Amino acid sequence: MGLLVVGTLGLDNVSTPFDKIENALGGSATYIALSASYFSGPVYLVGVVGKDFPEKYIRLLEQHDVDLEGLQILENEKTFRWAGKYHYDLNVRDTLLTELNALENFDPIVPEKYRKSKFVCLGNIDPTLQLKVLDQMESPRFIVCDTMNYWIEGKKEELLQVLQRTNVLIINDSEARLLTKEPNLIKSAKVIKEMGPEILIIKKGEHGALLFADDIIFSAPAYPMEMIYDPTGAGDSFAGGFTGYLHKTQDLSPENMKCAVVYGSAMASFCVEKFSTKGLEELEYLRVQDRYRDFQKLSQFDEKE
Ligand code: AMP
Repeated sequence: MGLLVVGTLGLDNVSTPFDKIENALGGSATYIALSASYFSGPVYLVGVVGKDFPEKYIRLLEQHDVDLEGLQILENEKTFRWAGKYHYDLNVRDTLLTELNALENFDPIVPEKYRKSKFVCLGNIDPTLQLKVLDQMESPRFIVCDTMNYWIEGKKEELLQVLQRTNVLIINDSEARLLTKEPNLIKSAKVIKEMGPEILIIKKGEHGALLFADDIIFSAPAYPMEMIYDPTGAGDSFAGGFTGYLHKTQDLSPENMKCAVVYGSAMASFCVEKFSTKGLEELEYLRVQDRYRDFQKLSQFDEKE
C-alpha cells in the first residue's frame, strides 16, 4: 500500500546570494514525494496543477514511482507559483510572491485505491485541504503534518482542527514560536502536544532537529556542509525522508523514530546541495545509507567515568 502525500506542486523563482533560477519545479508535495520515493514506493500523490505545468516534471515524478492518479491538471488554471529570496544567512528568506492560482478552488479527490493507505503525509498546503483529504481516508494509522507561517497566520482555526487528528507535527523553530506564542522551544513543544500531535519535530535549519516523542527528547545534528546552494524544500525533503522511512519499516517505536529523523535530515542535506529538486533527482539508496552513517559518526562519543 502506498504512502499518501498531499501538498503543493508549483513553479518557483528562487534567488540566493550565489545564483538564481526561474520556473523551477517546486512545491511541498513535489519535494516530499521525491524524497520519500527513495524509501518505499509507490507514493500516492494528491495535488493540483494548471495547464502550464511542464510535461517533463510529470515524467520526472513518474520515473520516481509517484502515482499521479490523484493529480488534477486543470485546463483553465495556472499552476501555484512561489518566489523567494535568501539572504547571506541562508536561514533568512523573504517570500516575494505566493500565487495560489489552481490551488484557490482546488477540491482534492482521493482516488479509491489511495483511501486505504495507512501512512499519510499532509504536506504544507491550506489546512482546509488537508482536512478534506483526511475526511476521505478510511482508517489511517499514522498521520504526519507539515505547515508554515502563511497558514498559521491565515488559517489558524483550520490548522488546529488538523492538529487534533495528527500523530506527528513537523514545524520549524520560528513557526513553533508563532503557533504557541511561546519563545522557549521546550515549553512550546509541550503546548503543541496539547493541541493534538503526540509526537513533534522542531527543525532548526543548520542547527539540526529536535524530536519530542513520549518522554524522549532527541537531538539530531544537521549535516555539516561547506556549500548550500538552495535551502528551498529542505523541510519538505525532511518530511519525505522521515515518513518514507517509517512507511518502509512499519515500526513506530520512539527508537525507530530517531532513525527516521536522521534519514529525514539526510534527505534535507541532499536537497540543499543543488538548486530546486535537482539534489533529489538522481540519488541512490546506497548514498542515502552512507550519509546516515556519517550522521551516526557526527554525534557518537565514548562513555567516560
Ligand atoms: P520549504 O523550503 O520546505 O518551506 O518549501 C519550499 C516549497 O514550498 C517551495 O517549493 C514552494 O513552492 C512551496 N511553498 C511556498 N509557500 C507555500 C505555501 N504557502 N503553501 C504551500 N507550499 C508553499
